[in-house]
Amino acid sequence: MDQTIAAAAAVLQMLMDGNQRYVDKRSTHPHQDAARIHEIALGQHPVAIILGCSDSRVPPEVIFDHGLGDLFVVRVAGNVVDDVVLGSIEYAIVSFDIPLVMVLGHERCGAVSAAVKHSQVPGHVSTLMLAIQPALERVKEGGNNPIDAAVIANVEMTVEEIKTSEPLLAKLVKQGRVQVVGARYDLEQGRVEMVV
Ligand SMILES: [Zn+2]
Repeated sequence: MDQTIAAAAAVLQMLMDGNQRYVDKRSTHPHQDAARIHEIALGQHPVAIILGCSDSRVPPEVIFDHGLGDLFVVRVAGNVVDDVVLGSIEYAIVSFDIPLVMVLGHERCGAVSAAVKHSQVPGHVSTLMLAIQPALERVKEGGNNPIDAAVIANVEMTVEEIKTSEPLLAKLVKQGRVQVVGARYDLEQGRVEMVV
């Protein structure tokens, strides 16, 4: 268990170091050459699972300065979970023995904004709103940036949903096989900051 906690901390540090390079405009773009393509052709060993928003401004490999085969990424508008997303996370943890799951929200998330504003949305977009809605009830009144508060509440809620998901993830978390953390990406600087 202690080994996994240490592994998760090391992976988180690698991600944050990569984000610092990206913020500082000194990305090294690792693991993106022909040798890497060949190296991972027959098998992947990603080190982290990222559940992020589909927003085109927040591609995990770019903002963490990682490359091919490094990150197992699940992206869905509003970085919410449903059974398909949970299944993807479970698959990756079990198949690749990944010690870290990061839920990554971001500033000015369109899906979260629409939920906050109760926007009229077409078709299946309403499913996203319903998934985000419970997070809004956790936001305290009186803040000066209700959308950002909702983004953070939504990350916190999603982290909890993953940690308590039965029958598998709750057990893996309890056993210390995986750490689940939450973070927020700032669109102005490109910086990732921990939320939970
Ligand atoms: Zn978004």
